[in-house]
Amino acid sequence: MVTLPWRMGLWNAEKFIKQNSQWVLEKMKAMKKIGSKSLFSSQNNKEYQKLKEYAREFVAERLEKFAGIYGFEYGNVAIRNQRTRWGSCSKKGNLNFNYKIVLLPEKHANYIIVHELCHLKEFNHSRRFWELVAETIPEYKKIIKQLRSL
Ligand SMILES: [Zn+2]
Repeated sequence: MVTLPWRMGLWNAEKFIKQNSQWVLEKMKAMKKIGSKSLFSSQNNKEYQKLKEYAREFVAERLEKFAGIYGFEYGNVAIRNQRTRWGSCSKKGNLNFNYKIVLLPEKHANYIIVHELCHLKEFNHSRRFWELVAETIPEYKKIIKQLRSL
């Protein structure tokens, strides 16, 4: 299942950063952790590997938390460099996430994780699916809009 495309150009990124100072602080911590100086400069391979590693931890932590709340069990989790997707869920219950999820604000990252988790129960985008998402992310519509504007 496709969630949302990654379309953030540098122009939008700058605007977004200005409007999200709390997010910038959080991401600066993340960047410090992986030893990167810049958020949106094209990552070299070493930086990418570190970012991917960090994304693995970041996703695992949140998956565990939300899967616990919902009582869902998931399969393998892969972190990928996907150009057009934030995440996906296979029929076998395996989850994929874009490594760039670590660059998003907390609530946006949480939404993407919850979205894919909810596909474990509802493999569609039905009303029931969105009700499930809303249980933990009540403001999901606003988040989707913001993600689309990236
Ligand atoms: Zn979906």
